[in-house]
Amino acid sequence: MSKVGFKHSPKSLAKMVVKQRSRVPALATRLYDRIEFDPNGGCWLWTGAMPTHTGYGTITIGGQTIGAHRASWEIHHGALPDGLHVCHKCDVRACVNPDHLFLGTPADNIHDMMVKGRANPKRGDSHASRKLHSSDIPAILARLADGESCRCIADSYGVTDCAINAIRRGKSWRHITFFDSDQGVRGANNSAHEVAA
Ligand SMILES: [Zn+2]
Repeated sequence: MSKVGFKHSPKSLAKMVVKQRSRVPALATRLYDRIEFDPNGGCWLWTGAMPTHTGYGTITIGGQTIGAHRASWEIHHGALPDGLHVCHKCDVRACVNPDHLFLGTPADNIHDMMVKGRANPKRGDSHASRKLHSSDIPAILARLADGESCRCIADSYGVTDCAINAIRRGKSWRHITFFDSDQGVRGANNSAHEVAA
């Protein structure tokens, strides 16, 4: 009988771990074959397959296509826990430098997630910003417009950079932001300023 809250039984989990470990050498060969070092930011830029609409590199192994950055995480840190995303500190989607990657989720703070051991966060961008208040959004947008990195802004609010990136891309807090296509920037609309005042 499977226990509520666990997606996999211990037996199937053990099988999965063994299978994933055994593919690491092959994954590493593929990954290191297709890397260009960026001396400026220290990024390891993936030069292999990359579906244009995502900006993320991909590696196909054993009939399964996975993100190159996810492959890098698996090689250097081990199998990915269910439901977690591999995020970029450097905001460069093609980067596979393990030092530039961290585990995150659009739904929860990473630390909170690990402490509670939850594996299936709820989907939905609204959860990404639950530690943020509408009054924070104008300041965040202003900092983004100034060219500050998502990571840096995220740190100052204690949220993941995925959460800040979601605001930048208009995936969350859309009700109080607008996108200026002439300038190519996202800004806060009037109601957001009222909330902030
Ligand atoms: Zn990087």
